[in-house]
Amino acid sequence: MTGISTLPELREINEQIARCRLCKLGTGNARPVPGEGNPHASVMLVGEAPGFYEDQQGRPFVGPAGQLLDQLLTAAGFSRSDVFITNVIKHRPPGNRDPEEEEITACDAFLRAQIAAISPKVIVTLGRYSLAKFMPNIRSMKEVHGKAFPYEGRLVCAMYHPAAALHQGSLRSVLEQDFRTLPMIIARAEARVATVNEHNEGALAEQASSAEQMALW
Ligand code: URA
Repeated sequence: MTGISTLPELREINEQIARCRLCKLGTGNARPVPGEGNPHASVMLVGEAPGFYEDQQGRPFVGPAGQLLDQLLTAAGFSRSDVFITNVIKHRPPGNRDPEEEEITACDAFLRAQIAAISPKVIVTLGRYSLAKFMPNIRSMKEVHGKAFPYEGRLVCAMYHPAAALHQGSLRSVLEQDFRTLPMIIARAEARVATVNEHNEGALAEQASSAEQMALW
């Protein structure tokens, strides 16, 4: 996976993450975990923060939660090489504690830059920290999981964090069900983009024809 060819923009973002000293995580001993995957992916998965195994390898979701994520992707008809996987936070918080506000803010530009470079049609948020990046007003994962919401020309689909299913077994089937809806959500996102493009083309054609008519006058 790490050998997958990438975009120059993503390489530049990775270098900036490695050099980042905006918060204490960047100045500590943690290894940068920028994210990895298909640079042309339709789907970007955004987790919370690297844990112990991710910090060891510099790769996202390679521990137990990552193994479950791989199974969920397979059940939905995807492999890791189809998608791009990253986190809200790009360095491991000590002891896997929750990310702090200033750490989330410090990493904001990196996540935004990754989204701009990859331009996924669907962003899957894994867990509440990731969901809060895109929909800060939603408080209950119970109400929104498996649903997709328009966000800046894309769809954001809220899902439980795979680690939650490792602690609470009943969530596993919920996650499986939610992941199985992904192909449908991608199709919806593609249809939305097509409609917008058609609309834009229509508007451009109209502009061109009125420009032609003006030229006749
Ligand atoms: N949990 C996360 O949120 N991200 C990882 O990369 C691994 C575990």
